[in-house]
Amino acid sequence: MPAQPLHVGRRPVATTCPYCGVGCGVIATAAGDGCVTVAGDPAHPANLGRLCSKGTALAETLELDDRLLYPEVGGQRVAWEEALDTVAGGFARILRDHGPEAVAFYCSGQLLTEDYYVANKLMKGFIGAANIDTNSRLCMASTVVGHKRAFGSDTVPGCYEDLDAAELVVLVGSNAAWCHPILYQRLGEAAPRGESRKVVVIDPRRTATCDLADLHLAVRPGSDAILFNGLLTYLHAHGCLDPVFVECRTEGFDEALAVAQASAPNIATVAARCGLAEVAVAQLYHWFATTERSLTLFSQGVNQSSSGSDKVNAILNCHLATGRIGRPGMGPFSLTGQPNAMGGREVGGLATTLAAHMDFGDATCERVQRFWQSPTIARGPGLKAVELFEAIAAGRVKAVWIMATNPAVSLPDVDRVNQALARCELVVVSDCVRRTDTTAHAHVLLPATTWGEKDGTITNSERRISRQRAFLQPPGEARPDWWIVTQVARRMGFGDGFSYASAAEIFREHADLSGFENQGERAFDIRGLAQLDDGAYDALKPIQWPVPHPAHKGTARMFAGNAFHTPSGRARLVPVQPRPPAMAPSRANRFVLNTGRIRDQWHTMTRTGTVPRLTDHIAEPRVEIHPDDAADLDLQDGALARLSNATGTMLARVHLAEAQLPDTLFVPIHWSERFAAEARVNALIPPVTDPLSGEPEFKHTPIAVAPFRPVWHGFAFSRTPLESPDADYCVRIRGRQFWRYELAGERPGADWAAWVREHLPGGGEWLEYQDRGARRYRAARLLDGRLQACLFVGPTHDLPTRTWLARLFVETTLDGTARASLLTARPPVDQPDAGPTLCSCFGVGRNALIEAIQRDRLTTPEAVGAALRAGTNCGSCVPELRALIDDTLRPPAAALATRG
Ligand code: SF4
Repeated sequence: MPAQPLHVGRRPVATTCPYCGVGCGVIATAAGDGCVTVAGDPAHPANLGRLCSKGTALAETLELDDRLLYPEVGGQRVAWEEALDTVAGGFARILRDHGPEAVAFYCSGQLLTEDYYVANKLMKGFIGAANIDTNSRLCMASTVVGHKRAFGSDTVPGCYEDLDAAELVVLVGSNAAWCHPILYQRLGEAAPRGESRKVVVIDPRRTATCDLADLHLAVRPGSDAILFNGLLTYLHAHGCLDPVFVECRTEGFDEALAVAQASAPNIATVAARCGLAEVAVAQLYHWFATTERSLTLFSQGVNQSSSGSDKVNAILNCHLATGRIGRPGMGPFSLTGQPNAMGGREVGGLATTLAAHMDFGDATCERVQRFWQSPTIARGPGLKAVELFEAIAAGRVKAVWIMATNPAVSLPDVDRVNQALARCELVVVSDCVRRTDTTAHAHVLLPATTWGEKDGTITNSERRISRQRAFLQPPGEARPDWWIVTQVARRMGFGDGFSYASAAEIFREHADLSGFENQGERAFDIRGLAQLDDGAYDALKPIQWPVPHPAHKGTARMFAGNAFHTPSGRARLVPVQPRPPAMAPSRANRFVLNTGRIRDQWHTMTRTGTVPRLTDHIAEPRVEIHPDDAADLDLQDGALARLSNATGTMLARVHLAEAQLPDTLFVPIHWSERFAAEARVNALIPPVTDPLSGEPEFKHTPIAVAPFRPVWHGFAFSRTPLESPDADYCVRIRGRQFWRYELAGERPGADWAAWVREHLPGGGEWLEYQDRGARRYRAARLLDGRLQACLFVGPTHDLPTRTWLARLFVETTLDGTARASLLTARPPVDQPDAGPTLCSCFGVGRNALIEAIQRDRLTTPEAVGAALRAGTNCGSCVPELRALIDDTLRPPAAALATRG
């Protein structure tokens, strides 16, 4: 197996980041020594040269350690021919025996548009069902419904330049500082603190995004629609609507207003129902009413709800009623989660869309079938993600092809999803990673290319189509997803429809379809790109759709003066009757669980979890809980807790957070069985979805929390990965030159001396310390003076600092002081513990920062940056730096007052 990727060439290649929907441009350069460097692309309009912590670390994700490099059938390596024949034969057989509804594809916002296009075409036009859905269902489907209801098309009206021009920015359910960091930084730079621009954050949690906020509304979970209905009522009552726009450009205003007035008649009612102070609600409403350039950014906190579609429309209603849409600095703006969620929506990667933004209907189905010249066409929507896996569990879907995603971790009720996959007759997984929770169920594994090797296009949150270009040769036998799909299609007898030789050819057809019999009624129109030759496609500069003719320069904003894409050409205001979340807290399940992303990890960690500098910011699955709740439950910071409800259970490290509202919890989404035992938060999430969008309610799950009290706690470091150690709590963390395992067990501890020799084997000398009475054990193995492995065990979670031990693994030899410190479990006095990483670019720890802030009275992130470099590269840690400065320099009395 090759240890390093092969380079295509040494010239810098302009490509795009594969993580979030910001869609940053990246310049990747393969150096002569075999290393790849990445930098932000200054010419890309999405990021203008910046990258966040994840983007900055992209070059470190290119190792081939856990790549899927060869096709496998039944766990055995086979030739591509055999793998493709197996997939095509399996799908064809099930299709013949059980019909088209018995097969399904489950795709991903990680796929490029060209990959998505051929998968959608195969399923809807040639297999004849619409059972192709995508993990975008889990993050953006509610916005798709909201857009279609209001605009008649799934169209984001604005562009990133609106962030610069806005005078009021309202962020709803969006921790942009961590989830869309470059947009967040752009917001911060557009109007430094103290200037006239106002920023409002609406979020039950006080997140890092609140660093920019002039006003934070810690809204009661699930009450957003009431807040925006109240805003519509207020705007009307105060004469702040745009009557001409409402009259000439919209429909449904009276009904929407009547429902808003009934549910949110005044500020007092809104404040009471949303759990807010009246003065805070009044401030938001006043600012919105008096600021023409108002921009509302919203994200998963709005979408991931059993009434997510309605919440989206409650926001859109306010912009339509004020005519604040399609002009600089104003409009509703959904921030997409994934790099190509928008591209998937464009081609029809959602089971509820036919193709090229066309919905199902006799005329559209006939049109698309004619365009594709396909033998059949799906006539109605297919199964949405959660329904699809329920159909697999019920045996109705018997073959599923999962592309570039990890549903065994990311869907709600993952235990049931895993059971469904275990029972499914044929599970095909195409991915770049060999071992995921999902590949464990695969009968056939197909090695796909990944970032750096893939070639095609993505669309970001502002409708901007950008090229993702290859700068590495595919390793092993990895192939592009579009190639894999077309090869299977050919073997199923559909060769005529899938004879593409390149991604460029697919893109041209995709662009052509967007303009096919499109007289302007369909917003998505890129026919102007349909004639690009291969060279022009390769050189394509980022451009925003629509691009209706070849000379067109792209469209920054929509709907300023043009018709909406409804039959009447008018936008629709949708009456929104606020609904509470599907499940209310109870005596047994008192806490409301909210889930989301953390700063340095991406999805199920298959890439970012292997990069040491990204793992130390938040190294373990954790539950964030208000200190008062923790005290109630006798939960200490750093201890372990069990979270449970009728759906499932998980273990997590307790993190006290005043940012949490009482009776609410936050748990990150990222950990899988591959990285931890019993740490998948989606084991707790019931499969409750929005009835319109099918998007799961990830943000509001009643659960119980209790201390998890193991009889022993420990951690191990090893230069080589360990077979899963036998422990009830076990988290695997990649470090520089080591793997770290956080461990705890409910059964009495093992014979630790025997344990280390079994689990940390190898030559060299052992240093050991044991205090049986205190139930403490420490051991370290050195080879030629170099630390190879160590284990520390004790009766509580109060164990030695890991940062100091991590540093010892970088040393080529340990001196006497370091050896002694291993046995005393204390770092030498001249090597203070830097603490967990806060700045991942320069590896600056929290303790080191606190010490410097106190010692040198550093009062700004700039001063900290000048002293320790922290925050001076990607800037992702600046909000945390500012909070740390505030906490560190705040007088003790002020700190107490805040906590009280
Ligand atoms: S903000 Fe970060 S993760 Fe998102 S696209 Fe840009 S560099 Fe990538």
